[in-house]
Amino acid sequence: MECLICQRATDSGCLVFCGEAICSDCEMRLMEQTVDDPGYETQVRAFRLLWQRQFLATRDRHLMDGDSV
Ligand SMILES: [Zn+2]
Repeated sequence: MECLICQRATDSGCLVFCGEAICSDCEMRLMEQTVDDPGYETQVRAFRLLWQRQFLATRDRHLMDGDSV
């Protein structure tokens, strides 16, 4: 798997989160990060993309199942 944020190959100890991996470096950076830090925007964008993808996947699954539309 590759890290959602830095796109580096992650090791097995990484955080896996909604099917996406975040390496320990990025995880640590996220924990320490404040809004004022440079790079925060990039990470927020990566997370937004992740949520969006999760949302679309969930929605598509519902559509395919033929649930009430
Ligand atoms: Zn990373």
